[in-house]
Amino acid sequence: MTEEYELETLAVRAGIARSQFHEHSEAMFLTSSFVFDSAAQAAARFSGAEPGNIYARFTNPTVTMFEQRLAALEGAERCVAFASGMAAILGSVMGLMKAGEHIVASRSIFGSTVQLFSNILGRFGIETTYVSPTDPEEWRRAVKPNTRLFFVESPSNPLTEVSDIAALAKIAHESGAWLAVDNCFCSPALQQPLKLGADIIIHSATKYLDGQGRVLGGAVLGKKELMEGVYTFLRTAGPTLSAFNAWVLLKGLETLSLRMEAHSRHALELATWLETHPKVTRVLYPGLPSHPQHALAMKQQKTGGGIVAFEVVGGKDAAWQVIDSTRLLSITANLGDAKTTITHPASTTHSRMTPEQRAAAGIGEGLIRIAVGLEAVSDLKADLARGLDRL
Ligand SMILES: *Cc1c(COP(=O)(O)O)cnc(C)c1O
Repeated sequence: MTEEYELETLAVRAGIARSQFHEHSEAMFLTSSFVFDSAAQAAARFSGAEPGNIYARFTNPTVTMFEQRLAALEGAERCVAFASGMAAILGSVMGLMKAGEHIVASRSIFGSTVQLFSNILGRFGIETTYVSPTDPEEWRRAVKPNTRLFFVESPSNPLTEVSDIAALAKIAHESGAWLAVDNCFCSPALQQPLKLGADIIIHSATKYLDGQGRVLGGAVLGKKELMEGVYTFLRTAGPTLSAFNAWVLLKGLETLSLRMEAHSRHALELATWLETHPKVTRVLYPGLPSHPQHALAMKQQKTGGGIVAFEVVGGKDAAWQVIDSTRLLSITANLGDAKTTITHPASTTHSRMTPEQRAAAGIGEGLIRIAVGLEAVSDLKADLARGLDRL
């Protein structure tokens, strides 16, 4: 049902496979294996001559429903679900690349992705060069004869830098490489990278796809030919999404558009207010006209999304005071939850960088990141004003 319906409809209805009981809500299939009618059928399933479920490391009907729904939302031929976002990133590299090949990646990607690329894949002969998320020419200059993958997150964490996905796709294709976009911050409700020319989409389903901070999950999406290798890695190595988590994520997708619209509206209101606060020196939010890539963001995203970063006067002590003065906001690293979360990137998610690396990346000691939830914005403002007004 991919072509004929709007995203909101697909989010509620795509991928449903009803059992013989005709349940209305998607069923959860808690089983590790599937029974065959005969030895001949078992042989046909194993050989691939007959499609169907064999063993839940390979496929499970609840997981398949989630994959088909997310594929419909991203406009992808195929989705392969994983146990977490990091497993999805590993799976995409293991499925598409080999030793001796090269990745060009944005400098502003998730911390664990940098660890995976540099410290783990580096040991297996895959080298990564890091470049600016906002200067496509740097990507072109970083290309080598063995470059196979471009990897970007847009908007980035925590500074919400926006990358030109169409421009990067063009350079990747001219260089014989694929462009992978980690679409975590926008979700397909706000941004569909395949339509902008990307080849591969990565999701940490843990974030907005769940939307209520309950389960871990991940996904890789793209053309059938590309996903074949990714799926082969999954069924052989086993970082499989559980049926229970897939069921929670299916339910999360039903409200994705409504939530993304509300997260974005709340974030814009909060960011606009923060910009007027005398103790706030800068606010980074793609939906604000003051954002360095505001025009690009509004071209490739539906709205600004739910993440706001801002810098306070007084460095780390001041930032910690604002964070510790909150009573409502949760001091936790997750994002994409109905509950608003607040973090100090320099001492948590980005603490493994040296102070010089952080300074070069623009992550100051006074920087605070907020993943704006679904609470009333007036309550969020009051919670932040308690600390800000005392600086
Ligand atoms: C959280 C996150 C990941 C990793 O996902 P997990 O589900 O925690 O493994 C990858 N990329 C981005 C942008 C994230 O925010």
